Amino acid sequence: MVLVTLGAALIGAGCVAALAVWTEDFPPGPRRCVGCGYDMAALLESLRCPECGRAAVHDGELVYTARQMRWRLRAALWCGSGLVLGVLGVLTGW
Ligand SMILES: [Zn+2]
Repeated sequence: MVLVTLGAALIGAGCVAALAVWTEDFPPGPRRCVGCGYDMAALLESLRCPECGRAAVHDGELVYTARQMRWRLRAALWCGSGLVLGVLGVLTGW
C-alpha cells in the first residue's frame, strides 16, 4: 500500500500542476521556434522554422515560455511516475 499511496500522491500533484499550467495566465513569450529557439518574430505568417525546418502545430506553441514548458514537464513526470508506482504497488501488494 505504500507504493499505491505514493503513486496516488504523485498523480494528485501532477494533476494540480497541470491544472495550474492550464488556468494560470502566463504572459506570452517572444515568438520562437520550439525546436531550436530561432527568433520568429518577423515571420508572423509562418509556423515553420527557416533554421531547423520544424513546424509548430499552432501559433500558440511558438510563444510558450520556458516556465510553462517546465511545469508541463513536471506535471507529466509526476503523473507518469505516480502511475508506474501505483501499478507496481498493486502488482506487488505494497
Ligand atoms: Zn527551429
